[in-house]
Amino acid sequence: MSESTLSRHYPNTQLYIDGAWRAGSRDTAVVNPATEAEIGRLSLAGEQHLADAAEAAGRGFAAWRKVSAFDRSKLMRRAAQNLRDRAEEVAAIMTMEQGKPLVESRIEVLGAADTIDWFAEEARRTYGRVIPARAGNVRQIVTREPVGPVAAFTPWNFPINQAVRKVSAALAAGCSVVLKGPEETPASCAALVQAYIDAGLPAGVLNLVFGVPADVSKFLIAHPLIRKISFTGSTAVGKLLAAMAGEHMKRATMELGGHAPALVFADADIPRAAKLLAGAKFRNAGQVCISPTRFIVEESAYEEFTEHFVATTKKLKVGNGLEEGVQMGALANGRRLQAMERLVADAVEQGAKVLTGGERIGREGYFFAPTVLANVPMSARIMTEEPFGPIAPISTFKSYDEAIVEANRLPYGLAAYAYTRSSSTSAAVGEDIESGMVSINHHGLGIPETPFGGVKDSGYGSEGGSEAMEAYLVTKFVSEAR
Ligand code: NAD
Repeated sequence: MSESTLSRHYPNTQLYIDGAWRAGSRDTAVVNPATEAEIGRLSLAGEQHLADAAEAAGRGFAAWRKVSAFDRSKLMRRAAQNLRDRAEEVAAIMTMEQGKPLVESRIEVLGAADTIDWFAEEARRTYGRVIPARAGNVRQIVTREPVGPVAAFTPWNFPINQAVRKVSAALAAGCSVVLKGPEETPASCAALVQAYIDAGLPAGVLNLVFGVPADVSKFLIAHPLIRKISFTGSTAVGKLLAAMAGEHMKRATMELGGHAPALVFADADIPRAAKLLAGAKFRNAGQVCISPTRFIVEESAYEEFTEHFVATTKKLKVGNGLEEGVQMGALANGRRLQAMERLVADAVEQGAKVLTGGERIGREGYFFAPTVLANVPMSARIMTEEPFGPIAPISTFKSYDEAIVEANRLPYGLAAYAYTRSSSTSAAVGEDIESGMVSINHHGLGIPETPFGGVKDSGYGSEGGSEAMEAYLVTKFVSEAR
């Protein structure tokens, strides 16, 4: 590790409740996944902290909903600028706790500032409407109101990006928030909250807690002041939280897992498709919900595609994300490393061939080699389970219909990709794939102004575009006779 790497500062993280940073009831270690060394401490909330946070959000909501959209928007823009000004420092913190290369952390922090700006703009466009009445003395008005205090749960793969979408859409709509941030990557998420605090956000409007996830979600979802739930994470946990939200009749947005098909047709620019798909696959070491994860290639192009894909994969520089030139960092935690080892062992046992990678790198840090598998039978777990890591299984198809059947085979429906030069194939793919998002001949998903969300077991609700505001608004109809 270089001198400059060693001297970087990683802060401890506390809870932020009712306008003040507070210690929790106990604390826990934060570990750098590249070294497995403890780099800081994190405060965990007890039940009283959670109750205080929910009540603060209740008071915060009463105040924030009265702030004009114009002023909310101005404050949000200041928060965006704060984040931009601190991008270098926050990016280093993110890499230390999450493992991703510094360049990806930097893109995430600057992207978060763009997301805040986008929602700051949308805050000013929460229009209602007037409906022509049947009688001359009646006025019928439809208004959009903030739903109320929000409980938001965000994961460790994008410590800022997952939180900023929920927090910024909620604040833009006039809601207050209790955010349960990711326990494994807390400090960069706390830096997002600090950017909002320094922009002048009133006490109680945004609260940040950490704790035992199941305890926090159980408490907050049931709390009478909380009116809306938003979760990003696995489908299994999402189903549990959605059921709890239903029990308490609370609105919910669920951004869950995926297992994105990438269809490569023989008429595509094969070297380009292989290069772009490999780049997207190994970004953030594959720990991305919209990562392409099932590579389904038309038989006649299989050899050429595989050759280019493997060549690109082999060239990737894997290492500590803080080091210059590193393109893929460590996995975020030991669970992912074990999951990768199990997935590869299972596939190989069933006859799959490892074209490159396939095992852990070194004995320190959660590094797993970028891996390409061929001849993977459908019965292998990787063909059904979201890998959430750097493993790419490549299989083949013979006809368009076969490709679509395979693409739609799983209960997931978050992202899908296709490469083809035929405009009729690309139009058909856009229609036939059961997925919340489809990107054809490039990787164009996940920007603030476009919808972001899944169908089927991948969840419901959108976290991007103007649709994202809907999640935090309720409709009120006022009919008034004069
Ligand atoms: P996990 O399912 O235990 O946790 C995923 C996230 O949910 C974490 O942030 C965790 O803190 C949170 N969580 C877990 N139980 C919870 C509960 N009862 N209440 C509230 N929050 C809860 O698994 P993990 O080992 O952290 O991650 C593994 C899997 O999670 C991956 O395979 C992937 O499918 C999924 N995941 C998805 C995303 C995403 O962007 N959609 C992000 C991270 C993880």
